Amino acid sequence: MKLAERTETELIRHIRAQLADPAQAANPLRADLEALLLLSEAQRIRLERLIRISDGYHDLERSRNLSLIEQYDRQIQRLEKLTRISDRYQKHLRELNQELKQAVLRDPLTEIGNRRYLLESLKAECARAQRKGGGFSLALLDVDHFKTVNDRLGHEAGDRVLREIARAIQAGLREYDLCGRWGGEEFLVMLPDTPLDTAVGVAERIRHNVSQIHLEQTGSPLPLTASLGLACHQPGEEYSATIHRADLALLRAKATGRNRVERLD
Ligand code: GH3
Ligand code: MG
Ligand code: MG
Repeated sequence: MKLAERTETELIRHIRAQLADPAQAANPLRADLEALLLLSEAQRIRLERLIRISDGYHDLERSRNLSLIEQYDRQIQRLEKLTRISDRYQKHLRELNQELKQAVLRDPLTEIGNRRYLLESLKAECARAQRKGGGFSLALLDVDHFKTVNDRLGHEAGDRVLREIARAIQAGLREYDLCGRWGGEEFLVMLPDTPLDTAVGVAERIRHNVSQIHLEQTGSPLPLTASLGLACHQPGEEYSATIHRADLALLRAKATGRNRVERLD
């Protein structure tokens, strides 16, 4: 076997054997070989120590990396939790906002749209009519002798009657019509894309529905009726002008006997 092909251990074992051999005691290279062997041993020990240090360093790095990953995972979990809370919070806010919006536009007694809702709808309908060139009709309804209803049945019963009137109006509407409480015992109905002739039919249906409401009463009979004034929006006019004409028509309905529909062309 050639020297270069020997393993280090074999070589060291061979050198040791040579040094121990009495035949080599006088060999002039013996002292140098012995020194070289010691040097090699010292270097081997140093190398092993270096390897141990390097291994230790790698272990440290690995555990440091592991704990970094754990910390990262924990942060991600924390972020996910925060996102979930934030999502829930935003959903809650959105719902609250929606409810608030509804509450601002709803009449608490009758649960139909309030005056603000009606004004917003009128503005939108006016803009739509201007854009598309269509028209709309308005019906202003006022309960007849409602003060007497309150006086006879009490204010709370009067409130219940107002709620029933709101239902009676809704029952008379078509899909795209809308209504709201204009104030007190007055209601406003908006009929998009509806000429007066057609609006009269809807108004008559509502008037009939109101007259069918049954009042719990004692003593002399107390009829419940409503009067309605109708007007049609003219191209380019403010909605207040249309309301004013509907109001004039309502006054005429009151003046000519109540429980009737009047129109102002
Ligand atoms: P007319 O046929 O001329 O309209 O007579 P009326 O008695 O209906 O008219 P008037 O304006 O004299 O009275 C309206 C009554 O409506 C008086 C008021 O107390 C009553 N009213 C208004 N708002 C409410 C309400 O929210 N609840 C109750 N119970 N009554 C109301
Ligand atoms: Mg009134
Ligand atoms: Mg009235």
